[in-house]
Amino acid sequence: MKLKIDITLSNGYILGPIKNESYNDDKDYYKGSLNELKTLDEAIKKSLKEIDETEAKEPKLKDYFLAEKLMINDPMLYSKAKELIYSGLSSKKAFKMAMNQFINNLNKSTSSYLKERIADLEDVVLMVIKNMDYDSKDETSKRYILVCDKVRPSTLIQDHENILGIISKVGGFTSHSAILSRSWSIPYVVIQDLPSLNDGDIAIIDTRLNYVITEPTKELIEKCSAEINASSFYNNKAQPHNGFKFLANVSTNKDIDRVLASDFDEIGLYRTELIFMNSNRPYTFDEQYTIYSEAVSLMKGKPITFRTFDVGDDKQIDYLITNHKGFDNYIKNPLIFEDQVKALLKANSFNTIRIMFPMIEQESEFIYLKDWVLRLAKEGNYNIPKIGMMLETKMALTSIETFLEPDFFSIGTNDLTHELYNISREDETNEIFNHINDLIESLKRVVKFCNEKNISLSICGELASIKEVAIRFYEIGIKNLSVSPASMAMLNMAYDEFINKN
Ligand code: PEP
Ligand code: MG
Repeated sequence: MKLKIDITLSNGYILGPIKNESYNDDKDYYKGSLNELKTLDEAIKKSLKEIDETEAKEPKLKDYFLAEKLMINDPMLYSKAKELIYSGLSSKKAFKMAMNQFINNLNKSTSSYLKERIADLEDVVLMVIKNMDYDSKDETSKRYILVCDKVRPSTLIQDHENILGIISKVGGFTSHSAILSRSWSIPYVVIQDLPSLNDGDIAIIDTRLNYVITEPTKELIEKCSAEINASSFYNNKAQPHNGFKFLANVSTNKDIDRVLASDFDEIGLYRTELIFMNSNRPYTFDEQYTIYSEAVSLMKGKPITFRTFDVGDDKQIDYLITNHKGFDNYIKNPLIFEDQVKALLKANSFNTIRIMFPMIEQESEFIYLKDWVLRLAKEGNYNIPKIGMMLETKMALTSIETFLEPDFFSIGTNDLTHELYNISREDETNEIFNHINDLIESLKRVVKFCNEKNISLSICGELASIKEVAIRFYEIGIKNLSVSPASMAMLNMAYDEFINKN
């Protein structure tokens, strides 16, 4: 079957077996009550074993794991699920429904403690449901093409090494799943009317030809495998680009290999919150220092702009108190902010680190955080790094001329277009492209201001990864673009076209 791709969120050419995502899966067969109950019992057993194994590695979090085990073993949750199974539901549906009833009850409670447990409960149920899908653990470690209605960033973060490609029914260009897929070179496509596909069937995703093929012939599989092996889809090095900077966006130290292989000048955006999202507790000062200093040494003298953790809204972390993204998160979590900044300062022994704050709205916020960093640098007797900010809120854009303190700005078009044009980051598709002219006009003011004040300026939002838009940025004088490490070919082309035109 040949399926036309509606939207490509991350380019690539890949072949592999399909795996439907379990939690969003509508295709849920009922195998008979006794079998379903057995599936539930085994999944619970497997989940408890997994928790024990994790606990053995993280004994300090004993209480947290105990709470998880109590939830999984909760007799009321179990008996409700059992009752629903006997009423004719599959184990998966029954367990999900039992959980929903539980959550409704917790929601009615006036205790904020109980309400906070909802996310934990959902996580635990998700784990059990995941364990209903596979007969052996080996199967989960096979590489596969993820098929789902909508990708959950947590699936991607936890299993990206096994995910060859993604086919979903909805997805936004600036969603975190799309950003991560591009940075890990995982082809990701949206097919709105996606028919149901079978687990284990082979599929080919080819974004160059704009289609997905399912159940390919043996000959086609052989041909594609040979082409994919020989393909140089991502093997591109930076060409000379005098006076311009080719920068990379990364989320982990593993991404740095690609940054160096493509010869990027610097890391323009290191999204540190991904480090925090990959754990169930805050990273300590020492752990963070290890990560940041490793990044510095891997980059061999090339600068890195680390963004302090940017959480809230679409990026929630269970153990942090966050609501919306922005300044308040540092005020509410001062110890975590201090640990992070101190770890960055200590790792900056070669003066290659820059510190950047996200979602700043007013200059007073920037000054407050900058002074905080300067105080910590003084107390620890550390080098003082360049300190800048993301320009990604409507308020900051409107009052750009008041921002005299930052050493640099990096424009975050993902949040900025969300705020300016009310575009959802997660669901919308091509809406963003209707606003490019207006955005370019607004950014001319920023360029003028930065030129007058001699403040360095770059763009790290995803629009910089689209060749036609990148050229528009070059045309208004923004010479430093920060893109995913897979986008070097695009940067080379954008630069060539711009230079040839001018
Ligand atoms: C942005 O908003 O454009 C940006 C680069 O930050 P993030 O996508 O991480 O919010
Ligand atoms: Mg942002």
